[in-house]
Amino acid sequence: SPATPVSVIGLGPMGRAIAHTLLTAGHPVTVWNRTAGRADGVVGAGATHAPTPREAVEASELVLLSLTDYQAMYDILDDVTEALAGRTLVNLSSDTPDRTREAAAWAARHGAAFLTGGVMAPAPMIGTNAAHIYYSGPGELLEKHRDVLTLLGTPKHLGEEPGLAQLMYQAQLAVFLTTLSGLMHATAMLGTAGLKAREALPELLSSADSIGDMLRAGEEHPGAALDAGEHPGHLSTVTMMGATSDHIVDTSTALGLDLALPTAVQGHYRRAIENGHGSDNWTRIIDSIRPPH
Ligand code: NDP
Repeated sequence: SPATPVSVIGLGPMGRAIAHTLLTAGHPVTVWNRTAGRADGVVGAGATHAPTPREAVEASELVLLSLTDYQAMYDILDDVTEALAGRTLVNLSSDTPDRTREAAAWAARHGAAFLTGGVMAPAPMIGTNAAHIYYSGPGELLEKHRDVLTLLGTPKHLGEEPGLAQLMYQAQLAVFLTTLSGLMHATAMLGTAGLKAREALPELLSSADSIGDMLRAGEEHPGAALDAGEHPGHLSTVTMMGATSDHIVDTSTALGLDLALPTAVQGHYRRAIENGHGSDNWTRIIDSIRPPH
């Protein structure tokens, strides 16, 4: 119901966006943040500023956490664990699947229900159709709070196992962060020839966009083959892509750029070639990344 009270602990850009979205939808919102000044905006918009974490927890059955990591949750709540019983904690902070599993057990010890969330949107997109949030933990808990949580972004429940949402989040962010580093590497490369980033980036982004087309293309869809452990090589073989990765390393070396990213990529292809998979499709590099068995 629109009147469900919600507490929001952590008011970085994300926590503030969450609090504003809930206030706009008419929910009574209680906030707490370590640095009190960061609450000014949301208090101006109608939120109640709890003087202590205990009062923030006690204000609502539903408590959302948006913090740098899971340690911050313990730093804030370890002294008030007896206030947690019977409440629902939804932790929307980034951390490892292992730490989220530990946190679910910690919450259970204190009688609290616990959902893990991975927010797939930058703060300004919270509350828009473009935002979705991965959840893991008890499905009925998500159902109970679906109306409130849907305000922030479309909820996608991955399963009961508490680590799943952050496993998905970290997988998504691995794509995001390595792609961003790739784009910055390429921009630095072109910058050595005097090309400005404002010209280089649109050019490079068209290349990044084509990856989606390549991986989604019907008959060439690599996912099914990957699942079957098959890497039929026709167009982009390990040998061809590996030679390309050598050229990127050589070019970057000549230009004096940092080599960490190109040599990591080169390593994936080199190992596949060493293992006799040069004529396979490039997807064979997944075996260079998986733990050896
Ligand atoms: P910030 O780093 O700006 O804010 C983090 C919050 O955590 C602040 O409220 C900060 O308090 C608090 N905090 C950190 N350490 C402690 C501690 N030891 N004790 C008490 N409070 C602590 O992050 P964001 O708001 O940007 O993000 C929050 C979470 O959302 C992160 O996990 C992030 O990965 C995730 N996320 C963020 C996105 C974004 O666009 N910003 C997008 C998707 C996910 P204080 O103000 O006192 O420093």
